Amino acid sequence: MSDSIGDTTAPEIETETESEVETGSESVADAAVGDEADPTITTVDNPVVEANELTVHYDDVQALQPVSMGIPEEEVTAIIGPSGCGKSTFLRCINRMNDLVDAARMNGELRFKGKNVYDEEVDPVALRRKIGMVFQKPNPFPKSIYDNVAYGLKVRDDTENLDERVERALKRAALWDEVKDQLDESGLELSGGQQQRLCIARAIAADPEVILMDEPASALDPVATSKIEDLIAELAEDYTVIVVTHNMQQAARISDKTAVFLTGGKLVEFDDTQKIFENPDHQRVEDYITGKFG
Ligand code: ADP
Repeated sequence: MSDSIGDTTAPEIETETESEVETGSESVADAAVGDEADPTITTVDNPVVEANELTVHYDDVQALQPVSMGIPEEEVTAIIGPSGCGKSTFLRCINRMNDLVDAARMNGELRFKGKNVYDEEVDPVALRRKIGMVFQKPNPFPKSIYDNVAYGLKVRDDTENLDERVERALKRAALWDEVKDQLDESGLELSGGQQQRLCIARAIAADPEVILMDEPASALDPVATSKIEDLIAELAEDYTVIVVTHNMQQAARISDKTAVFLTGGKLVEFDDTQKIFENPDHQRVEDYITGKFG
């Protein structure tokens, strides 16, 4: 049977194409050295998402060391760290996208509003409506702009006031003014930045509480990137946004909190973004942020 979020957000499971920051294996190995100090993880009151001793293996390879952290509601949390350190893996645990990866095995807990999302009775499709996802490469359907946004609602036969809801989602994604006269045209005709905002509108139409973004601007030009960054700040008024980025300036600009993963899938530090960028507790975090590796 078809489902809305499973279909609307179905990712291309692809090998990581981390392009802008190519990390040589030597520097990754360096990053692990001397990183044995206990992580510094700031506690968050009433986290909307909370990991407790969460680990992930791909077959025999451990991609995440036990991660315990809480993510604050209606703020932007950035996840940074060198390529291959488990950022996307962690993000994909939050809405169970890793279920779609055969080799992936999760242990520990991942709670959304107090409920472990890996409990048997949790429906991953319904979960992905509440925790939407936007990928590095914009992936609109080969359908009209209108149908890209309406698709999930139509599949669920949830079509009351459909026009209004499509309009609202497009407005919320800061795209309405640019497309309102061409709603019947293909989403694939839009520019890359517009396509990414269309994908954000598609996630918003499902009425999520959390929006996960995996390098949402790394395939875009600077103007389109800036629009996405502005949009992320606006979205945090209503949604919890968790964004993976390898662009440290971007993390510093757009996020309230920052989590730093280092080599071996270890969460080393999680704190207010200003603290992480101005006065991190860990030397390895400072070295990473100042560009000494990664
Ligand atoms: P990041 O997002 O920080 O670049 P990832 O979460 O993509 O890191 O990857 C963490 C580790 O898990 C890497 O060693 C990567 O090769 C491995 N990995 C990621 N996805 C898969 C997969 N589908 N199958 C096997 N190994 C994977």
